[in-house]
Amino acid sequence: MAAMTDEGPSIDRTRPSIARVYDYLLGGTDNYAVDREIGDVFKRDLPGSVAIAFANRAALVRAVAEIVTTTDVRQFIDLGSGLPTADNVHQIAQRHAPESRVVYVDIDPQVLVHGRTLLAENDRTRVVAGDVRKPEEVRAHPETLALIDFERPVAVILSAVLHHVNDEEDPAGIVRYWRDQVPPGSYFFLSHFRSGDNPETAEAEGILHQTFGRGRWRTDEEIASLLDGLEILDPGIVPAPLWRPDDADGPRHGGGGQEITVWERLIAAGLARKSA
Ligand code: SAM
Repeated sequence: MAAMTDEGPSIDRTRPSIARVYDYLLGGTDNYAVDREIGDVFKRDLPGSVAIAFANRAALVRAVAEIVTTTDVRQFIDLGSGLPTADNVHQIAQRHAPESRVVYVDIDPQVLVHGRTLLAENDRTRVVAGDVRKPEEVRAHPETLALIDFERPVAVILSAVLHHVNDEEDPAGIVRYWRDQVPPGSYFFLSHFRSGDNPETAEAEGILHQTFGRGRWRTDEEIASLLDGLEILDPGIVPAPLWRPDDADGPRHGGGGQEITVWERLIAAGLARKSA
């Protein structure tokens, strides 16, 4: 456990963190030796882990761009946002609609450190140190209330975070909570480790458990059930590279284009809307 200070939990450099290992896989520099050591185990034993991270991130970028260019939604809550990377939710949204507001939420204390820098340069972006498993606290946080108007539609981003929430911690209940807090016309983007009936799934799950003591691969049906009560939009819950690929990516479903790898199939993405 990271130690608590007046400013929240302090950064523990002796144990790997999910956010920092993920940052390392994406080629970032916000990580310590302990994270790189585990990241290298991932790269060696799970050669597709880098592809999974990039496929996930690319789907998130496409989803945010899609929301902001095709709907009137201009406020985002990014739960389990991770460390800043190449293209962050506020940068994508504000590129298309500068008035967009984004609240980032993460349990990792290092994310909060970046939040202070972000806040200094962008008053439409806030960072909350929060636990997705305690959605009431995130909802009531002054930084959330400062930017999000819950009378207007919100885009709730749950990108690669709910697989870190165990069944007994009720991941579906987390989505249900936010579904009840936001008005019709709100969107939910979800990406999630996707189990295929293959050795790669078992291997990946095993390594994640060894490292972080958690990590739950779910089937497409289980992932879809996390979005219960919401309308899942086309093309449904699919491997992340197949979720509304850019034309530039070419067809990636085997129809003459580049096949997606077994690794890239281990991460699914989907977008859902709260209907009236
Ligand atoms: N959402 C980003 C993305 O898709 O690129 C980052 C995903 S990263 C794999 C998972 C993130 O979830 C990490 O930053 C980790 O700290 C955060 N996380 C894990 N459990 C959490 C929890 N209970 N509450 C808040 N954040 C959590």
